[in-house]
Amino acid sequence: MCRHLAYLGPPVTLAELLFDPPHSLVRQSWAPRDMRGGGTINADGFGVGWYPGEGEPVRYRRAQPIWSDPTIAQLAAVTRSSAVLAAVRSATVGMAVLDGAVAPFAEGRWLFSHNGVVRGWPDAVVPLAAGLPVRDLLTLDAATDSALLWALVRHRLRAGVDAVEAVGRTVTDVAAAAPGSRLNLLLSDGHRVVASVAGHALSVREAPGSVLLASEPHDDDPGWRSVPEGHLVVATAGEVRVNPLPARVRLAG
Ligand code: GLN
Repeated sequence: MCRHLAYLGPPVTLAELLFDPPHSLVRQSWAPRDMRGGGTINADGFGVGWYPGEGEPVRYRRAQPIWSDPTIAQLAAVTRSSAVLAAVRSATVGMAVLDGAVAPFAEGRWLFSHNGVVRGWPDAVVPLAAGLPVRDLLTLDAATDSALLWALVRHRLRAGVDAVEAVGRTVTDVAAAAPGSRLNLLLSDGHRVVASVAGHALSVREAPGSVLLASEPHDDDPGWRSVPEGHLVVATAGEVRVNPLPARVRLAG
């Protein structure tokens, strides 16, 4: 079920995050250690978004295995950034395999990813979708649960809701409407990362001046710590806070 990561810190090449570690995101695409809720490999697409400086992020996504695209390997070797969000995708059965279905989803400075599934899709979340402008529904990147989750988070961000609350409230609402969902979300503006842990694993590695959040630790560094179920992580390059999600979030068993 998808693997994702987010990095903040001193500039590194994309290759240092995606390719070089012993259990890198590329390796997790064909040999993940912790798949839950169906799926065995993450071969339905990949995406990476990085902030070239103070401006908006650049994004590259493709509906093919990350190991089969020579361009990403070349790009990753020469592209440096101090803020990166990346994902490899295992499409939920029945959901489209298209470039637009792969994270990161983006608008302005925001990059977003979802690892998981909305149970009872789409009927369970029709009442929530009905609260969105029709235009947002007509312009979803793809007809997938992840694209709708992004539309729900983005709607709150556009209204000026803080990122922490936008992620927390969306997880709470969707968990209530579609119990048993897996809702590991990642949201970044290049300075801060907000991540929910609701149905899937997430690990954090802090080092002086940097932070890396990843579905699976990419090496044996003893600095990795696993975030407990039902929590929300708010991370900058200098500080990581972990708080419980509201108790009414019913997680996948
Ligand atoms: N359900 C989402 C999709 O199909 C995410 C899948 C995942 O986490 N594997 O795109």
